[in-house]
Amino acid sequence: MDKKVIEDVKLFARENWEGVIRDIGRLVAVDSVRGEEQPGMPFGPGPAKALKLGLEIAGELGLDTVNCENMIGYAQVGQGEKYLATITHLDVVPSAGWSEDPFTLRRREGFIIGRGVMDDKGPSVLCLYALKYLKDRGVELRYPVRALLGADEESKMQDLDYYLKNYPAPLFCFSPDANFPLCNGEKGIYHARISSRLPLGAVADIRGGVARNVIPQSAEALVHAGELKSTDSVTARREGELWHLCAKGVGGHACHPEDACNAIGLLVNYILENDIVSGEEKELFLGMQRLHSDYYGRGIGAQASDDKFEPLTIIGGEIAVENGHIVMTVDSRYPTTSSSDKLTAILEKNWKGLADVVKTGDSEPFYMSLDNPAIQACVSCYNAVTGENAKPYTIGGGTYARHFPNAVSFGPEHPERPAPDFAGPIHGVDEAACEDWMREALEIYILSLLELEKLDY
Ligand SMILES: [Zn+2]
Repeated sequence: MDKKVIEDVKLFARENWEGVIRDIGRLVAVDSVRGEEQPGMPFGPGPAKALKLGLEIAGELGLDTVNCENMIGYAQVGQGEKYLATITHLDVVPSAGWSEDPFTLRRREGFIIGRGVMDDKGPSVLCLYALKYLKDRGVELRYPVRALLGADEESKMQDLDYYLKNYPAPLFCFSPDANFPLCNGEKGIYHARISSRLPLGAVADIRGGVARNVIPQSAEALVHAGELKSTDSVTARREGELWHLCAKGVGGHACHPEDACNAIGLLVNYILENDIVSGEEKELFLGMQRLHSDYYGRGIGAQASDDKFEPLTIIGGEIAVENGHIVMTVDSRYPTTSSSDKLTAILEKNWKGLADVVKTGDSEPFYMSLDNPAIQACVSCYNAVTGENAKPYTIGGGTYARHFPNAVSFGPEHPERPAPDFAGPIHGVDEAACEDWMREALEIYILSLLELEKLDY
């Protein structure tokens, strides 16, 4: 990489930095949580307003803009059919419990704080300024570059469904909506619903969980039983004829079960250890115990690994009683050596005909080879700017990238770098971003686009 170009990119980033912060602040001021559909606003007024403003900002920077029916929009520099792209999003998750107004950008000790500064309004502005560089410097473009601005990433990704149905896909696309350096693969995502065929027995009611992809922090049950005692994780108290059981675990995301302790599993263990269930009902609960005993799926024989991804994980996210039967949901993140059919068959076998298993969702593993020149270009720009020797990684989650034929997630978060206590995480209270790291990210994105322009696709 040309030293002079790197110096020029750094100069551009410094000279434009106050503009970047100002424009992030303008976008943060719009509460863009998905709301009720209104005429011309498929995701409600918040995302539409943020999208309009994002395109306005792009226009002020001298870029051409297109609003695709308030589903998604884009800014572009250059002309031509085949194009390169970035994709970010301007919708956000709800904000509660913040120490100050989440919609007023604050600067503190080198950090900016506000909803969306990191996920993903800040990165959106970085992409617009990366295009501004190409425009201001009059870079000759073999391929036009488009900065896509989504409006529904946090909910259903209907923005991208719409775009890919109505527009040709980019030759290559990177999405600044994850961690640095670069994510080149995402595990398969499998969901199933398991319904017990048995009528309720000693367990008269059981419930826990908030979503299928979230490991529940608490779970409770009403059971018929003799004397019961509370334990460290399960409290038992009389409620008339019945016992009310309440299990407390540690909540977490289905992608990271290592950090959590599933409350449903604790409750199931308690019920079995205290001989509350018997016969077929016990068999049903033994099936649950096998599922919950190991989030790598070894309890039910679902374990799988390959040379691309971390091992398979599987969790039970929800449990409830519906129409007199226990129902549960399962979330698995699987590598290339497993599949949704295999998982359904394993779950069916685990309950030996006592429960019906229905697949409710599946997205196959997504993987881009490390030999891909576009990936190598992005990673080498990252390493050139940071002085690191970082390698791409894969994840268990699902991002925009898997929807494209040729895309990766590319920064800008640095979970490995220490941050002060006041700097909150994405989706959390007091979401923050470090200004120096963000400016560095802008430099990385500009240099990557320059390198990507040189490749044949
Ligand atoms: Zn995001």
